[in-house]
Amino acid sequence: MKKIAVLTSGGDAPGMNAAIRAVVRTAIYNGLEVYGIYGGYRGLIEGNIKELKVGDVGNIINRGGTFLFSARLPEFANPEVRKVAIQKLEELGIEGLVVIGGDGSYRGAMALSNEMSIKTIGVPGTIDNDICGTDFTIGFDTALNTIIDAIDKIRDTASSHERTFIIEVMGRNAGDLALLAGIAGGSESILIPEKLEDISEVIDRVHRAEARGKKHSIIVLAEGVMSAPELAKIMKEKYNEDAHCTILGHIQRGGRPSAMDRVLASRLGNYAVQLLLAGESGRAVGIQNNRLVSTKFEDVFEDEHTVDLEVYEASKQLSI
Ligand code: ADP
Repeated sequence: MKKIAVLTSGGDAPGMNAAIRAVVRTAIYNGLEVYGIYGGYRGLIEGNIKELKVGDVGNIINRGGTFLFSARLPEFANPEVRKVAIQKLEELGIEGLVVIGGDGSYRGAMALSNEMSIKTIGVPGTIDNDICGTDFTIGFDTALNTIIDAIDKIRDTASSHERTFIIEVMGRNAGDLALLAGIAGGSESILIPEKLEDISEVIDRVHRAEARGKKHSIIVLAEGVMSAPELAKIMKEKYNEDAHCTILGHIQRGGRPSAMDRVLASRLGNYAVQLLLAGESGRAVGIQNNRLVSTKFEDVFEDEHTVDLEVYEASKQLSI
C-alpha cells in the first residue's frame, strides 16, 4: 500500500482534527502518501482532494470542528453516485480510505468497501456515543464537559431564583450524554429514551427536593425523549409545575477537544492506519475496556447501541 486518503463526514465532533492528524502522521511515518478529502463524500465525488504533509496537520490537535470540513450527501446511498467516488479514488491511485464519522458515514464506507478493491476503515467520530463496537466515540467526552459547564452555570441561577430547570441535551436516540451529564451535574432527574420514566416520578422528585429545603431542581432531558418545551407543557398542564427550559443545541458540538478526546482520537487514528497496513478492510475501530478493537461494519449495524443501564440505576439512588 502506497497511498491512502482520509475524510470526515456527518455531524462534526471535537477531536476529529486530532484523528485526522493521527492518520496523516501515522501514514507518513510508515512511508505512505496521504490525501485529505475536503467536504466528506460530497468532496470526494467533486474531486476536492489534496495531498497532506506533516505540517498540514500542525496546530490542529487543540481545535474543535474538522479542518477537512464535513458534509451531508443523501445521494451517496445511490450506487451510481458511489461509482463516481470510486473513480476519483482510483484516478489518484488511492488504495486505502479512512472515514471518520458516525453511523451514516459508516454505511457509506461499507457500501464503498463492498463495491471496490480500495480498503476502508471507519473511525467513530460523534458526540452522541451511539455507535456499537466502541465504549466511547470521539467528541463525547468534550460534549459532556460542555454540558456540565452549562449545568453548573444554570444551577447558580436556578438556586438563586428557586426554580426548576429542564436542560435538553443532544444524543439523537441515545441517552449517553444525558445520563453522564445528569450524574456529573448532580441533577434531580435524568430522562433518557432507553428507559422511559413516568413524568409523575420526575414531579415527585422535584417535590421531595423542595420538602428537604432544596432551592432548585435540575432535570436533564435527552433530545430523543421529547423536547424541553414539550416536557414543560406536560409538567404545567398535568401537574401545575413550572419549569424553565434551556436547549443547549450546537454549543455541544463545538469547542476545544478534551484531553481524553485528543488521546482517544490519536489512538484510533493511528490504529486505523495500522489496520490498513495489515490489509484489513470493511471494519470500524473502537475502544473497549481501554483496548483498541475493530469490528466488521455489518456487526456494528447489527447490534443496537444501548446506554449502560447499571449506570442509570445507580443514578436513581443518587437523586432520592
Ligand atoms: P453520521 O455519520 O454523523 O451518522 P449522517 O447520518 O448524516 O451522519 O451520514 C453522513 C453521510 O453518510 C450522509 O450524508 C451520506 O452521504 C452518507 N450515508 C448515510 N447513510 C448512507 C447509506 N445508507 N448509504 C450510503 N451512504 C450513506
